[in-house]
Amino acid sequence: MDINALARENVRQLTPYLSARRLGGNGDVWLNANESPFDNDYTVSGNRLNRYSTCQPQALIDAYAAYAGLEANQVLTSRGADEGIELLIRTFCEPGDDSILFCPPTYGMYGVSAETCGVNRKTVPLRDDWQLDMPAIEASLDTVKLVFVCNPNNPTGNLIDRQDIERLLEMTKDKAIVVLDEAYIDFHLEATSTDLLARYPNLAILRTLSKAFALAGLRCGFTLASPAIIELMLKVIPPYPVPVPVEEIACQALSEAGLAKMKFQTLDLSANRAYLQAGLSMLPGVDVFDGYGNFLLIRFPNADALFSRLWDNGIILRRSPIENCIRLSIGNREECEKTLAFIREQLAEQ
Ligand code: PMP
Repeated sequence: MDINALARENVRQLTPYLSARRLGGNGDVWLNANESPFDNDYTVSGNRLNRYSTCQPQALIDAYAAYAGLEANQVLTSRGADEGIELLIRTFCEPGDDSILFCPPTYGMYGVSAETCGVNRKTVPLRDDWQLDMPAIEASLDTVKLVFVCNPNNPTGNLIDRQDIERLLEMTKDKAIVVLDEAYIDFHLEATSTDLLARYPNLAILRTLSKAFALAGLRCGFTLASPAIIELMLKVIPPYPVPVPVEEIACQALSEAGLAKMKFQTLDLSANRAYLQAGLSMLPGVDVFDGYGNFLLIRFPNADALFSRLWDNGIILRRSPIENCIRLSIGNREECEKTLAFIREQLAEQ
């Protein structure tokens, strides 16, 4: 399968911006990038921030590749998974001509990024059980270069059927890239699709340190894909996308100690999720959908009124566009207890 043939014509022809760091320059005197020679007091460690960072810091790429069980040339790092979404659109979709396809209700940035890039959006809603509508997707693939599927899906929280993911990859071969957004997969790692990368060069997987790694403020994400896709994205990504402190902290998060901490925290959050699910399910008229990420989608008898009362009392949840549904992120035990108690009280009064 020729991945290059799927890329935008101008990206295929593009000579990327080449810095000496990217070219692997190796010298004592670096007077090439209009940097300042003055070291400063703002260093977060031994690193001198007067110098530009490496485009794709090898230590960080190696650490994430090891975590994901992949080779370094299958990994690209960017400013959060959000930047990965936009880079993929800018790499593969010709503004005006090409489309992305996604399946609402799902993460909002696929549509927003396409819009700001002037790329068409096609939507094929999820079925009532929040699985993919495969025949409708197949019928809509004309002009589509990227199919975005979120697994576990935000905001519904469910996992997408593994068989459908494979069928989608088969169906799009030679036509489109399937982008699996695994932002929440670390909470349920057995459902990852990284093993499919060996079979499908048209698969790209988005990951992030924002969720299970508790580093939303760091802005560090990854795209896992065939080397051909990564190489094309490297043409489009700006030359210095990873701030030096981000590289350092992300490497700590991916160290043995960092990974152990992350695993412990995901177990803790899963226990809190189970606590909330059990407590909320007992309330009259409340439906809690099974969730595999660090959030739950809940249907209430009168979500608007409840949401406002929560808001007015300093408990900020997320109103979902799905009828009468609210999305609740899993916090620490105290936050969960407080939220559950407040909801219980409110529903008793209604
Ligand atoms: N994908 C999904 C499904 C998300 O929910 C989010 C953040 N809410 C992102 C991607 C973006 O993640 P990041 O913080 O890495 O940009």
